[in-house]
Amino acid sequence: MQPSRRIRPRRVAALASVTALTLAVSTSAGTGHLTPGTTTAGAGPIALARTSAHGPCMISGGPTVQMSEGVPTPGGYSRSTGTVRALTLMVDFSDAPGAGTALDRFHEFFPQTREWFRTSSYGRLDYRPETPLPDWLRMPKPFRAYDIERGAPFDPGYRQLVQDIVAAADPQVDFRTYDFLNVLVTPNAGPSALDTVLSVTFAGNVEAPVADGVPVANASFVYSRQDDGSGSYDRTGYRVLPHENGHVFGLPDLYTQEGGGAVGHWDIMSEDWGANNDLLGWHKWKLGWLDATQVNCASTPGTTEYTLTPLARSGGAKLVFVPLDRRTGYAVELRTREGNDETVCRPGILIYKVDADVDTGRGPVTVYDSHRDSGGCTRSPNVHAELSDAPFVPGEEFRDVRRGVRIAVAGAELSGDYRVRVSRG
Ligand SMILES: [Zn+2]
Repeated sequence: MQPSRRIRPRRVAALASVTALTLAVSTSAGTGHLTPGTTTAGAGPIALARTSAHGPCMISGGPTVQMSEGVPTPGGYSRSTGTVRALTLMVDFSDAPGAGTALDRFHEFFPQTREWFRTSSYGRLDYRPETPLPDWLRMPKPFRAYDIERGAPFDPGYRQLVQDIVAAADPQVDFRTYDFLNVLVTPNAGPSALDTVLSVTFAGNVEAPVADGVPVANASFVYSRQDDGSGSYDRTGYRVLPHENGHVFGLPDLYTQEGGGAVGHWDIMSEDWGANNDLLGWHKWKLGWLDATQVNCASTPGTTEYTLTPLARSGGAKLVFVPLDRRTGYAVELRTREGNDETVCRPGILIYKVDADVDTGRGPVTVYDSHRDSGGCTRSPNVHAELSDAPFVPGEEFRDVRRGVRIAVAGAELSGDYRVRVSRG
């Protein structure tokens, strides 16, 4: 499998006054193969719970899609269930010496990132950040020598940076014992995240530099601070790391060049600034955090009623997927204000289209807004407001006349569960 490389726009932060646009390299072994569920010590395919009834919902992208919403996720990415060890290194440079201690930088992201994954995964991902080198790891060259900046041909620079990190850490670190790498760069290296978000992940990159005989295939780099000056950095600034780590687990970017308008604040792969948010149910299935019984594949004609429990709660049915063809379908889930979903202002049934044939950053997921052009129901900073009232509530219905699909919200129970009725011709 020959990985190819592509530069794509990374993130248009939904800030009132700031547009943060930058570039990302995402390399993946994008052949579109479905890999059998073998597990190896380090990186490996993601276990996906399914039965034969889920077959029609196992959508996949074409061979040119590098990072797809398809299931199961191909091999090469990090495991996303069980105990996962994240080698976490804090690096600085002679022209950007570490400000404060390296462990201060570490604590901008932990324990919150670990907790975020524990909550989102219902305890199925035990994320262990490990810092065998608790001090700043000084790089041999000044930061500017690596040419890591917006619009720069940064691929050779990154290769050099990873090689230098490996060389500096190798005497004390056995890279074989970790699932992926976090590089927390001193925040004074490079531009402010308000100007340019440099943070990036190389995922499933089999051509990565080798350390202790294994390629550093999955590595997240975090720069600067996603601090919008609203005073919430201590609570929300860590959220860039779970976003970047989402890539090492094989999740694509959901924002596009136009920003977070396709999915809004309904997934951290769409918006990672501002108040906390969770992942879509589709992503939770893709990551192996849902049992087969928690995912209903609505592939047969007729009308079927399903009961959904809030996505943020442990247990119960979480996702109904209505496949349209081998590549696309509608996902249906219940979003409420709990768990990681702290900005939900109109609880209800979120309906979105998943297209496995659309690549990362090109809009593989589209949320349907039950109240278009309403302006939304939140004023939380850095939250795409228009889609904040997207969920459908009892009495409302989503219709795709052309495909003969209707998804009606039949009612809400005192327990907090919702009933949805899916009809298809
Ligand atoms: Zn991303």
